[in-house]
Amino acid sequence: MSDYTRTLLPVRWPDDAPKASYDVVIIGGGGHGLSTAYHLATRHGITNVAVLEADYIASGNTGRNTTIIRANYGLPEAIRFYQHSLELYQGLEAETGADILHQTKGIVWLAHTEMAMRTERARCAMNQASGAQTFMRTPAELKELVPQLDLTGGGRYPVLGGSHHVEGATARHDRVAWAYASGASQRGVDLFQHTTVTGLRRDGARVVGVETTQGPIAAGVVLSAVGGRVSQVAAMAGVRLPVRTHPLHAFVTNDYAPGFDIILASTELACYVSQTDRGQMLIGAEFDAQPSYSRQSSYSALRSYSYKITRLLPFLRDMRILRTWAGICDISADFSPIMGATGVDGFLITTGWGTWGFKAIPAGGEALAELIATGRPPDLIAPFALDRFRRDHVLADVASAGTR
Ligand SMILES: Cc1cc2nc3c(=O)[nH]c(=O)nc-3n(C[C@H](O)[C@H](O)[C@H](O)COP(=O)(O)OP(=O)(O)OC[C@H]3O[C@@H](n4cnc5c(N)ncnc54)[C@H](O)[C@@H]3O)c2cc1C
Repeated sequence: MSDYTRTLLPVRWPDDAPKASYDVVIIGGGGHGLSTAYHLATRHGITNVAVLEADYIASGNTGRNTTIIRANYGLPEAIRFYQHSLELYQGLEAETGADILHQTKGIVWLAHTEMAMRTERARCAMNQASGAQTFMRTPAELKELVPQLDLTGGGRYPVLGGSHHVEGATARHDRVAWAYASGASQRGVDLFQHTTVTGLRRDGARVVGVETTQGPIAAGVVLSAVGGRVSQVAAMAGVRLPVRTHPLHAFVTNDYAPGFDIILASTELACYVSQTDRGQMLIGAEFDAQPSYSRQSSYSALRSYSYKITRLLPFLRDMRILRTWAGICDISADFSPIMGATGVDGFLITTGWGTWGFKAIPAGGEALAELIATGRPPDLIAPFALDRFRRDHVLADVASAGTR
């Protein structure tokens, strides 16, 4: 259980505008940019680094997500990567000294059809073979885990069984970002909020810096970690990515009696629910089918999410929706992340985090930092390189995205 009395460590803000030059410039002060900066400083002693954030720290998807951490993916490469990240999360409070409200709760993925049962059985086998703890549960076992669950699914979505990923967890999203921001800045990394990158500086084919609203900055390496804005930033380097941007919504209800201690999801219905530390029920579902950069909440999303989730948990019908919001998600063509080289010297990306990248923040940043420090992608992320699309080695894993 988290110690609520521990506070976040302070951030060291630079007194002046950005320097004329840094070894590394990271575009985007979300979880992935900050985690990379933190790991550059702590693992490799590289601190001549600037993180440039257009708005405020964690104002993008990192501060908007539903905070689920899990490793129950469908491909060995993905399971290994996310399991490592899940384990880094388990140690993050001890490592940073910041309270991120991490709680291991377990996550259940329900199956309503024989096809989904087969998928979940295959997931359990693949997870166990690749290091993640996921087990099939019968309807009776599920009812014991989630007493509020209607096993008839409102007479429409009967629960035939489900997989139980016992190490599934949640952590407070903005605290994760600020933990990394604090740790990086205390070691000398410069963080700048309200500083937008408006262009990339080139020397021939190589990217050698950025243009910003605070003037030009030279850089040995530029990393784009801009969430749903990646198509625009990559275009500045002439890179076209297999990524589309779609809005994803979430909402919270008023407080429910504490004790809904598990994360419940149905991937067939593409909806999920957990209880926050404050007691609110936090509900998410599928992303908008129409690509868009809008973060406007929509009534149709609320209606569709509410319909599905109340079939599974009828008590939610008596709750009120308190607040709703949306983020814009960088969905890759194969529903797996893209990390590393872009084909343009000096310009790296971490993207394709879509609706599933919060859980990846520790391992993604650690791996990107190693790539920047050594020039070689660590084995853990090598399969996620952009050139997999050219080589026809895609990592198609839509069934593990949790939303679609
Ligand atoms: C509603 C919702 C629920 C989600 N639920 C989950 C979940 O339960 N579990 C999970 O694992 N994932 C979840 N996700 C996905 C997860 O939030 C993201 O994949 C993750 O936060 C991506 O982090 P990031 O650092 O790459 O991007 P972001 O957090 O979006 O950060 C990118 C930053 O770049 C900045 N930026 C953009 N352009 C520029 C520029 N030109 N110059 C400077 N800065 C710029 C932005 O302002 C932003 O702050 C969810 C997402 C949403 C929207």
